[in-house]
Amino acid sequence: MTEIDILKSIAENLSERKSTAALNNYEVLCNNIKYVNDLLTWGVNSLRIVQSQADTAFKNDSLVLADFKDNTKPHFYFRNIVPRIILNDISVLDKFISYTEPDNRQGITVGNVGKLQKSFTDYNNLVTSARQFIDSLVADAYQLTLLEAKSTNYQVLVSLNSFSKYTTKSIRQGLFNAAIENSLNEFETLNYNQWANSHITKCAHKNFGDKVDFLFTNLNLTAETDFKEEIKNLFKFSSEFTHIGYVSTFFTSSDISEVIFTDSISPYLPSTENFSELKYEILETATKFYSKIYLPTLLNSFKKSFEPSTFQIFETSLAQLQSKIIENLKTRNNQYYFFIKQGLIASNSVIDLTCMCGTTNNWQPPHDLANIYCKCCGSKFNLLEIEGDPGYIMTSSGPIKVIGSSVPDFDDLSPERKVELLKQWEELMKKNKL
Ligand SMILES: [Zn+2]
Repeated sequence: MTEIDILKSIAENLSERKSTAALNNYEVLCNNIKYVNDLLTWGVNSLRIVQSQADTAFKNDSLVLADFKDNTKPHFYFRNIVPRIILNDISVLDKFISYTEPDNRQGITVGNVGKLQKSFTDYNNLVTSARQFIDSLVADAYQLTLLEAKSTNYQVLVSLNSFSKYTTKSIRQGLFNAAIENSLNEFETLNYNQWANSHITKCAHKNFGDKVDFLFTNLNLTAETDFKEEIKNLFKFSSEFTHIGYVSTFFTSSDISEVIFTDSISPYLPSTENFSELKYEILETATKFYSKIYLPTLLNSFKKSFEPSTFQIFETSLAQLQSKIIENLKTRNNQYYFFIKQGLIASNSVIDLTCMCGTTNNWQPPHDLANIYCKCCGSKFNLLEIEGDPGYIMTSSGPIKVIGSSVPDFDDLSPERKVELLKQWEELMKKNKL
């Protein structure tokens, strides 16, 4: 291709936007966004409790390890700094949560469906809050892992130096005391090339990607290459938006009129659905990062700080917090298998499929196999047909009723019959060593 070919393709594609197709199911997206947003909110509220407990414990000499009691050692000063870092992260998390709430569809009609339209500002707020989330939490997790004087000095002094360049006199006076002014003056004697390696500062991993690699290695997660790439890709994608790149501005600032869709809740627009799809993806990546990287890093940092019996208390609560988030996140967009009596599919009966999330989906005839999923959690259903009237089937997770069989539901059985079935199941599992 020549340079003119390239410019032509840009002129044709980035000047007149085509209308975008709705790619996912809006109702499922809204449910899943609500579920994960609630989960992360719960996770952050739990972190608030941990932060306050850690703040108290750091103040108590008898609960910290020897180095943290010695004011000639850097550790001593981290007793103030670590709770402050966590508090900063909670502020960033709160903002992120407020920008990743599900759309409010109450009172939406064909007349006011435009309220759901997503503009440049909406995209920019969502993606910028994601950028702040991933950027701050990676930088802070890096500091929490190192607990090293020069590295923390570097991060704070670089930030102070930028802040002081433009801030107002009153803010500066309120924030900077003589000691911090002296530190900043000392930093200003360094030339730019010395910033990351001097008598007062150090930064061995300046780039975002280097910090991510460092964190994954430190947590022994080097095999999670896909997730590592996902984090780096979110960073690159959000840079495009935050720095007002050509593609993101073009994509989000079109005033093209849209087709109106509708589902069982209200009318909606394709742009609303596309926006929710992006929101869900970002929310899922961020929540995974919070549970798999941030919380374990915090735990390692506490291990370096507190004496064993205090550490154990934090270990129990942080491990529970982490596993609940990971397990609950897995319930979205899952795959489930159902056993079903042969002949039921394509009959005239409505087939009730109760998902693991508790929602019963009424699958209407004609039973379209391409369209079989849970409206609440987005999980896909796979059906395995069984001949005759088989009753219950023994699976590795217990006796399960074959849908359409003439036997009662397992939960409706008498206690005696339940015990009898469970005994049969146990024997079968033993026999087959399952
Ligand atoms: Zn479900």
